Amino acid sequence: MKLPIVAYGDPVLKKKADEISPEYPELPKLINDMFDTMYGANGVGLAAPQIGLSIRLFVIDITDKEEPGLEDFKKVFINAQMLEESGSLWDFNEGCLSIPDVREDVKRLDTIKLSYYDEKWEHHEETFTGLAARVIQHEYDHTEGKLFTDKLSPLRRAMIKSRLDAISRGAVKVTYKMKFPAGSKRR
Ligand SMILES: [Zn+2]
Repeated sequence: MKLPIVAYGDPVLKKKADEISPEYPELPKLINDMFDTMYGANGVGLAAPQIGLSIRLFVIDITDKEEPGLEDFKKVFINAQMLEESGSLWDFNEGCLSIPDVREDVKRLDTIKLSYYDEKWEHHEETFTGLAARVIQHEYDHTEGKLFTDKLSPLRRAMIKSRLDAISRGAVKVTYKMKFPAGSKRR
């Protein structure tokens, strides 16, 4: 089942999310719904705060049959904690399903070490690099209440402010279902 995606400006996107336990109600269904929602919006990652749940859960699918290491990269990350970020800074043009039509270059380190549980509640401590690291960093930030726009320079942020405000008001065309912050005209 596809769920509405919360738009920029909703306070849930600014909140540090809580850990969950294996008893979290209907977790397998929630994970399925998150994948459905992500695929329905042509995304490669989706974090629970983006569907209005302030919990430490995100899903990613960056499977690329041609790319070594990404041949089967459909993963669920529960209670993830960033242990280390290292390597060199690189620019990548990021977008976000909560911030439609805004894409900006963001600098992040290229290597991360992450602790997390998968959907079977098996614990992993794993190192990721390149695109995998990048997508994880973006989704992980959602569970920390951070957005990629927070990483832009003040000048760049000022330049896109009116577009961000428009998204918060619901004045944006999207092909998927969204939930706009209370008080906006279109919901
Ligand atoms: Zn995002």
